Amino acid sequence: MYLYTYTDEIRPVVKKQIASQLRALRQIEHRRRVVVQRLLDTSPLVRGTLSRILQRCGKPNCHCAKKPAHPVWRLASSREGRQRCQLVRQDDVEWAQEHVARYKDVRAGLRTLDAIHKEQRAALRGLMEIRAIEYE
Ligand SMILES: [Zn+2]
Repeated sequence: MYLYTYTDEIRPVVKKQIASQLRALRQIEHRRRVVVQRLLDTSPLVRGTLSRILQRCGKPNCHCAKKPAHPVWRLASSREGRQRCQLVRQDDVEWAQEHVARYKDVRAGLRTLDAIHKEQRAALRGLMEIRAIEYE
């Protein structure tokens, strides 16, 4: 009975392909680490979307009675399927922008990580294909 073992005689072309695949994998791994490092940020964030809307103040003599004219910031968020809309106090706008931006960064980072994982898996599968030999 013959058991095929991975011989020392790997063809040079295969060696080249493996080396190139390993380079690609190292590069993917490097990008993955950079993204994960960013995701390890532990500072607080605020879920939701900030938007600037125009509002009426309700005073009958105000110019906004004809046309909504007072700009305010609104934070829209949803949790467990429930929508929530809040007005952001003027003093808190900068704080809210900063914290919502962190949330957006994390979401973007997670999407990037998904894409990198797909790429990594495909590259690892490619390495498997290059290494595959027939038993004869
Ligand atoms: Zn008004």
